[in-house]
Amino acid sequence: MNKKLTSVLFILTCFLSLAQENQLKALVGGTLIDGFGSDPIKNSVVIIEGEKIITVGTITDTPIPANAEVISTEGMTVLPGLWDMHVHTMINGHSDYEYWDKTYPPLLEDVIMPSSAHQLLMAGVTSARDLGGPLEESIAVRDAINKGEIPGATLYVSGPFIQHQPYPGTEDFRWGVTSPEDGREKIRKLAKAGVDLVKLIDHDQMTMAELKAVVDEAHKNKLKVVAHGHRPNEIRRGLQVGVDCFEHTGLSSAPEYPADIMELIKERTAQMNLGPLFWCPTVEGLYNYEYVRDHPEKLDNDSWHLGLPDSVIVDIKNSITHPDRLPYFQLTPIRKPTLQTKIKQLMDAGVVLMIGTDSGIPMKFHSQSTWNELDVWVNEFGIDPMYAIRAATYWPSLWMGVADEVGTITPGKYADIIAVDGDVLRYISLLQDVDMVIKHGKRYK
Ligand SMILES: [Zn+2]
Repeated sequence: MNKKLTSVLFILTCFLSLAQENQLKALVGGTLIDGFGSDPIKNSVVIIEGEKIITVGTITDTPIPANAEVISTEGMTVLPGLWDMHVHTMINGHSDYEYWDKTYPPLLEDVIMPSSAHQLLMAGVTSARDLGGPLEESIAVRDAINKGEIPGATLYVSGPFIQHQPYPGTEDFRWGVTSPEDGREKIRKLAKAGVDLVKLIDHDQMTMAELKAVVDEAHKNKLKVVAHGHRPNEIRRGLQVGVDCFEHTGLSSAPEYPADIMELIKERTAQMNLGPLFWCPTVEGLYNYEYVRDHPEKLDNDSWHLGLPDSVIVDIKNSITHPDRLPYFQLTPIRKPTLQTKIKQLMDAGVVLMIGTDSGIPMKFHSQSTWNELDVWVNEFGIDPMYAIRAATYWPSLWMGVADEVGTITPGKYADIIAVDGDVLRYISLLQDVDMVIKHGKRYK
């Protein structure tokens, strides 16, 4: 290409991106839940300029700029883009992990993980914490989304799980720790590669010295630590070393958290200087298992096909033709009645719950998981819908350290906004079909 043409094209590109940036959108008429928890704003107006929100008001007090693209949100609830604080983009509902981990590593970076992130976005999930994946692929997919090269939820990635010992065949995305110094070394490697946080599991099998080294090194590198709360000693030790968030209600089919753990949790939540104690109970996959088993029509919803080649779709379908036979869910019906008790214990102890789903586990698709978690909290457990929405918007952004950029609908923040027909506070399950998705000012749906 000759020089002159190149420079003309360059100027043209600059002009186009400038035009894009200055583009004004006005969302007019809907009921706005801004994410801070107060009563929704009726007849709201949200003005977006480029990637950012510039004005939030009502139709009586907010003039609509003449050059704005007006998008009517009449009859809709407008709310911040949802966060899912526990997803696994490297898996997508297949029931056999051993087979998946052997078969799909070559497709993870270019197909599987981008497809998961895209499905999340189309479900109204504009940000997600991706808890466990191969390092280079996790970073590459996150960065490609951030650069706008591929569509997807903004990802905050942990890279490989940090644990006592990787299970055979999973060394690519599970790193074992053999000594305190080895633990520090591995955390430094993750930090250098640019992960956003650390995911810790099986830490009841590490030595205390190893566990302390891992958490300390993570904090030194300004990385928060997310830890499994599956087994009692994962919780006890996690609290002892100051992990920043627990995952899963855990404790298998045991009816409740034992008294000593509750005492430790309350000791922790009593310390305001440490900030809230966060927890993602990830209940919907377990709570809804029997329903899905008995009503498998749900699995035929093709929203989870987005971005996947036919061969992979068929492969996943074949692995879940008998939901009643999956070993993953053997104990689930016995665990199910304990979930609400455990959630209540955590809430009563002052823990801040966040929405996370374990999306990607057998039969749990990224296109469907998140709204189901909100639905179980609100409609099955009686949790206040505004609490549930804040657990999927405001609190996650605060946890991730980006509350001044996203998480609420506030002037100056990125326009990560969704809208859905009807009253979400009255009917939370409306979130299963989000009508509009805007991420960083760009409309995706
Ligand atoms: Zn998980």
